[in-house]
Amino acid sequence: MARIVMKFGGTSVADLDRIRNVAARVKREVDAGNEVAVVVSAMAGVTNQLVAWCQNLSPLHDAREYDTVVATGEQVTSGLTAIALQEIGVEARSWQGWQIPLRTDAAHGKARIDSIAGEELIRRMGLGQVAVVAGFQGVAPDNRVATLGRGGSDTSAVALAAALKADRCDIYTDVDGVYTTDPRIVAKARKLGKIAYEEMLELASVGAKVLQTRSVELAMKERVRVQVLSSFEGGNLLGSDLPGTLVVDEDEIVEKEIVAGIAYSRDEAKVTVRRVPDRPGIAAAIFGPLAGAGVNVDMIVQNVSADGTTDMTFTLGRSDLPRARKTLDDNLASIGFAEIVTDMNVAKISVVGVGMRSHAGVANTMFRTLADKGINIQVISTSEIKVSVLIAADYTELAVRALHSAYGLDAA
Ligand code: ADP
Ligand code: ASP
Ligand code: MG
Repeated sequence: MARIVMKFGGTSVADLDRIRNVAARVKREVDAGNEVAVVVSAMAGVTNQLVAWCQNLSPLHDAREYDTVVATGEQVTSGLTAIALQEIGVEARSWQGWQIPLRTDAAHGKARIDSIAGEELIRRMGLGQVAVVAGFQGVAPDNRVATLGRGGSDTSAVALAAALKADRCDIYTDVDGVYTTDPRIVAKARKLGKIAYEEMLELASVGAKVLQTRSVELAMKERVRVQVLSSFEGGNLLGSDLPGTLVVDEDEIVEKEIVAGIAYSRDEAKVTVRRVPDRPGIAAAIFGPLAGAGVNVDMIVQNVSADGTTDMTFTLGRSDLPRARKTLDDNLASIGFAEIVTDMNVAKISVVGVGMRSHAGVANTMFRTLADKGINIQVISTSEIKVSVLIAADYTELAVRALHSAYGLDAA
């Protein structure tokens, strides 16, 4: 007997047939004698629609009301999944974040989990009841609904697995594991049997949507055994050969590649603050207020011009752009810029691998490959195990495919 958390993403609960399929999978685990908690996302596309409605009414909407709206998708699927389970004779009940309670911090819209009270769930699971938990949501210190940022159900699942001391956390999605890059845009992407926490963390943080970054961070910290697998095919009976990807410690991987994978993100925007005075403190004058407004800035470059002014260019998440613009405009007096230029037609392409620590030339291969394709690099940033570049969004697929080949990642 094992205690497991099974998380189903949006496409896995996209309609009633898919929800019936989820129920059948859960039943198999229950019949095998396991205690099961299920975490569900909203039906595919629903969260996007809810977000769009908020944005349409007001680009600078109240984040607490945004949470009230976007958390509803998971309320629907948790109830439906519980009904589907009951219908096939499996005892189940749904749990909203506030009912557990799953407590978060005050950062509405991208809240972090502070605690999960797991006792009642554990007690009921022990009596054979499946807990169907609405992912993505919790309750903030102001006693209002909070959501965990896009893709947050992954984090709900991993945090729940830690709180329930589960033996595994299975993340069911529409691909059968973690690949060397998004298999939707590179047909030759290879499935990885195992990936190191650190590589998965870095890949997720630069755009590989298959797991939310925070979920990987938590899994690494809490030692949760996470595996990514498809809800669309294959079996998952306990003891069978599970076909997904396991996220593991680096030393569990025998054959290490220099580059583990390539990720892209189209959720970027580029901002150039033009002709600011080139003086000490200018970076603090720009980025201080942005941080204060909760805007996460990613890549930064500064171009010094001859006349003593400088252009400061940086990237940020697209959804933060309205807030960033307003913050900069509000601080015009203390910064002293001529104009703000924004560009949404950009994408960030990143190459990730722990092997970079010990191998030189990874960045150079990237620059040369992109140059050969005539792709201009606008901004570069690096970390110990990652190189990222910002390019025009139109070249995203070309760049990812070319790099995938250049690093020898293509499937035979
Ligand atoms: P879910 O709704 O189940 O949470 P997501 O859309 O959030 O699913 O994540 C799964 C998607 O992640 C896949 O359909 C795939 O297009 C994308 N993806 C991006 N990079 C990778 C990668 N390296 N490996 C696997 N999938 C990836
Ligand atoms: N439904 C939420 C989203 O689309 C959470 C999730 O799917 O993980 O971001
Ligand atoms: Mg997801």
